[in-house]
Amino acid sequence: MIAGRALALSAPTAIVTGASRGIGRAVALELGAAGARVVVNYAASEGPALEVVEHIKEKGGEAIAVKANVAETSEIDALFKAATEAFGSVDVLVNNAGITRDGLVMRMKPAAWQDVIDLNLSGVFYCSQAAFKLMAKQRKGRIINMSSVVGLFGNPGQANYAAAKAGVCGLTMSNAKEFATRGITVNAVCPGFINTEMVSSELSEDMMKKVTDVIPLGRLGEADEVAGLVKFLAMDPAAAYITGHSFTIDGGIAIGAGF
Ligand code: NAP
Repeated sequence: MIAGRALALSAPTAIVTGASRGIGRAVALELGAAGARVVVNYAASEGPALEVVEHIKEKGGEAIAVKANVAETSEIDALFKAATEAFGSVDVLVNNAGITRDGLVMRMKPAAWQDVIDLNLSGVFYCSQAAFKLMAKQRKGRIINMSSVVGLFGNPGQANYAAAKAGVCGLTMSNAKEFATRGITVNAVCPGFINTEMVSSELSEDMMKKVTDVIPLGRLGEADEVAGLVKFLAMDPAAAYITGHSFTIDGGIAIGAGF
């Protein structure tokens, strides 16, 4: 058996952090529809998380919702315990949960810096560490980390977020190298502007126009478009030979708007 390809043969168990809404919700639905047994993690939105579980079950899939703040190591331990008790293994981890606490550097409070680092970077590290303990024994696994184009290019007012997301890309390469011999792949996805609450609650109509003007495809992305890329990296046999990379999905922001 070629390392890592076994995932395509059986129904993998996938933990998706922050899956009650937005991109995480779309990823959970996509993986569930593709045959994964999905652990729908959430921090506060119990109702929406249970709805995601119901959607997956309606389509004939298996899923559970687990409340856990993945910025806290004790809650990460409880999340992985709940996953293994329900489904016996963890084969796929999608480190998706993330927050913004925007502000210019000169005005940024320590809590705004720390909260973003604790969830968006340390949460990814500690969830990955918990997953590796299980996946290394199985000698298979796939981890997908949600970064951002902001982690590649920076953004004024988002020093905390950019630092965390750039850190995620570095962590992805390092973890990919450390766990490759165990048949575990680690990749990152860097979305541009995706049509979720994170963006719609932050951007005024005026800002939205400015943003779409610099996107060559001229529109925001949709959560299910990001979910399609995550599903490929998480479950497709063809992705078994891809590790350590960060994939942008941004309507062309990374190549610039042109003249
Ligand atoms: P969103 O709509 O704000 O959803 C965030 C999700 O994370 C929710 O399910 C939320 O659960 C969960 N969450 C928040 N804090 C958590 C915690 N401490 N522990 C566990 N779960 C927690 O965000 P989104 O736009 O879908 O973004 C998802 C990911 O993509 C993030 O990592 C974000 O940085 C990244 N991203 C987004 C965009 C974009 O344009 N939207 C672009 C680039 C990257 P509750 O509802 O229970 O709080």
